[in-house]
Amino acid sequence: MSTPPSPAALPPGAVLGIVGGGQLGRMSAIAAARLGYRAHILTNEPDGPAAQVAHAVTLGAYDDPDALRRFALAVDVVTFEFENISADGLELLAALRPVRPSGHILRISQDRVAEKRFLTEAGIPVAPWHEVRTPDDLPAARAGLGLPFILKTTRLGYDGKGQSRVHRDEDMQPAFDALAPHPLVAEGMVDFACEVSVMVARGLDGAAVTFDVTENRHRNGILDLSLAPARVPETVRDDARAIALRIADALDLVGLLGVEMFVDRDGQVLVNEIAPRPHNSGHWTMDACPVDQFAMHVRAVAGLPLPPAVRHSDAAMKNLVGPDDMALWPAIVATPGLLPHHYGKTEARPGRKMGHVNVLFPAGGLPGEFGVDAALGPLAEGYDVLDESAG
Ligand code: AMP
Repeated sequence: MSTPPSPAALPPGAVLGIVGGGQLGRMSAIAAARLGYRAHILTNEPDGPAAQVAHAVTLGAYDDPDALRRFALAVDVVTFEFENISADGLELLAALRPVRPSGHILRISQDRVAEKRFLTEAGIPVAPWHEVRTPDDLPAARAGLGLPFILKTTRLGYDGKGQSRVHRDEDMQPAFDALAPHPLVAEGMVDFACEVSVMVARGLDGAAVTFDVTENRHRNGILDLSLAPARVPETVRDDARAIALRIADALDLVGLLGVEMFVDRDGQVLVNEIAPRPHNSGHWTMDACPVDQFAMHVRAVAGLPLPPAVRHSDAAMKNLVGPDDMALWPAIVATPGLLPHHYGKTEARPGRKMGHVNVLFPAGGLPGEFGVDAALGPLAEGYDVLDESAG
């Protein structure tokens, strides 16, 4: 039996407003088009990844009231691919159009202290933490967390930027001085066995679905490789998905949310951070799931029913970062089995995410790291696969 669309569902032809012009907006716009919607992007990049594939663009800054107003009046519903929009900007949008996810969710996810307070109050396990507003707060953080600990900016950190590890007492003050803007948050260092994430989508009717747990590897603070399903015990996967659902319910989410987590050596799942938008670690769903994270995002925001977040294949996702990876593009598109996604960015600066590649394996057939590496063809890291199979 199929569920009829709720009366609040947007009809085909409706306009989905997306704040932010990067690759997440691009892939959301493509998913919107597939469901008959038009994507209208608010961005300051006229030829950015999302603008290239959109129905319409409002050019402007995210804090420009005039641009925000023109954008809102041109769309039926507002969503985000970029969440660092000001509280005033959010209020302005919400006064004109439905905003999904709601502004209060963005305000929580924009601020690590607000996020940790929310998670702690919701009974969700996180690493021990202390707010550090001034250097006078450092001794208490040091006493509470021990060494080493991590100092992070509370706002505007991404891809490992805005954080510093404190290994010795004499590192504390210089680390505080080097990070901006203040205040900061200090976090106990988690000795994690692996990092995982869960994408959860929740519709207007409160029904929620989670994609399979993803295992994530970082390089230079940037996501490098994601594997689905995560190679963790079933109980850990169940815990991770249950935590993501609890967060979505506690936030009264309408939309999509990525939850980044640590799995510690005892198998305990701790939440690192949440992002109320499609997430890089969910890109494998584009090829391994009949309904991927972007389609789920669009459906949730448009008020459509959410189908099950099932997966027909195991998958690996490798990010293409900077000029070195992009130099391999001709080889990547020439390699059978690699499923490339290009973000349309013209300039490949070091550290810039330019695209990603998915590789599929039969369900239950995700190989170990040598097998995944070999399947990446020109992107293989150069483990000596022949030696491994010979040995
Ligand atoms: P974040 O910006 O919070 O996502 O952190 C970026 C990366 O730094 C994470 O993916 C982890 O690899 C590492 N990291 C962040 N916080 C911690 C922590 N409390 N303990 C250990 N590693 C961490």
